[in-house]
Amino acid sequence: MISVDEARAIVRARASPLPGAERLPLSRAVGRVLLGPVLADRDDPPFERSMMDGYALRSADTKGAPCALRVTGAVAAGDARLPTVGPGEAVWINTGAPLPPGADAVVPVEMTRGRVEILVRAEPGAHLLARGALARKGERLVEGLLTPEAVGICAAAGADPVDVRPRPKVAVLATGSELDRAPGPHQIRNSNGPTLVALLHSHEVTDLGAVADDPAATRRAVRRGLESDLLVTTGGVSTGDLDLVRPALEEAGVEILFHVVALQPGKPVLFGEHAGGRVFGLPGNPASSLVCADLFVLPYLAALGGRGFDEVLPEVRARVTGPVEASPKRRRVFPCALSGGRVEPLPWRSSADLYSLARGNAYLVIEPGVSLAAGDEVTCLLPERAAARTFGG
Ligand code: AMP
Ligand code: MG
Repeated sequence: MISVDEARAIVRARASPLPGAERLPLSRAVGRVLLGPVLADRDDPPFERSMMDGYALRSADTKGAPCALRVTGAVAAGDARLPTVGPGEAVWINTGAPLPPGADAVVPVEMTRGRVEILVRAEPGAHLLARGALARKGERLVEGLLTPEAVGICAAAGADPVDVRPRPKVAVLATGSELDRAPGPHQIRNSNGPTLVALLHSHEVTDLGAVADDPAATRRAVRRGLESDLLVTTGGVSTGDLDLVRPALEEAGVEILFHVVALQPGKPVLFGEHAGGRVFGLPGNPASSLVCADLFVLPYLAALGGRGFDEVLPEVRARVTGPVEASPKRRRVFPCALSGGRVEPLPWRSSADLYSLARGNAYLVIEPGVSLAAGDEVTCLLPERAAARTFGG
């Protein structure tokens, strides 16, 4: 049995970005990873821009404010031809319009009266965004993951289409003779398969459904799964006589890199590789399967797709609100609700308890033999998707 850290180091060491690239229209690229940085094609803003509706004028003319100025023209956002502002003159200007030559400040309409009395003294640059204030031509604007904000920045810089990294191909296979779509009283439905497919939705997923605990059927299903960059199985990976995943993988030429990790839940997790890719064998209990997917599978796939291995499961420190018992030999990864620097352990009724994980938004880490008392400072792991349901501040 190796530690979680050793197991994650083995996975990390094999997690390098897939070669190649794809060119995509920006409108379809959110969630993908840029192949290289996007550079500013020009200054942003490309011209000195008014931030208010009001009057463009020469700041020196407002020294004795209140003062009257002669309105000699108007400029709207998008106007190409700009009137020059001379001494004693003002030009009506809209938000987003370029500052006309001669002017060096804008006075908002709220600070004026009639046509036009300027009520306040303006400093040079007032209510203006200087050319290049946000970005300089040639500057690196975005790299890595294309978030909605990054898409907006690419759009502003004219980066469309964009070159992105290929997405890893992942196959998901559930195992177990008890799994049935129309379960009899002695059977259950496959929930791990759909959970994993949902969890991996930003990759290219093939759902191989569920296979019974039959050696030949398991071998066939596993071979199909190994055609992908990554195969993720659930169930059948412990050491019972009906745990057929490891033998099927070995027969297909997979080298086992680890099997059994000092983790609760998730101890029987397996990681292996073959010429064409890699495989995770996750335990069948729904909570174990999800914990292992968060600790090992998502970071591995993030790195394959060109992101950082540690980017998708950041650690945060918080104070625990109640006691949690440690396991003597294994690291516990425990469902919890994290909010405003406090972390509340959630009721835990076994490794089958997906409900508990669904109620929480993070994992509490409990080192072997180190039980927690209320008020202890602890480490929590925050899955990326949890941000959407992080409670409070
Ligand atoms: P196993 O890891 O195959 O020994 O399974 C451990 C427990 O998880 C058993 O109670 C299984 O019935 C259950 N289980 C296995 N696979 C699934 C699945 N795909 N969906 C829901 N429960 C499962
Ligand atoms: Mg099973």
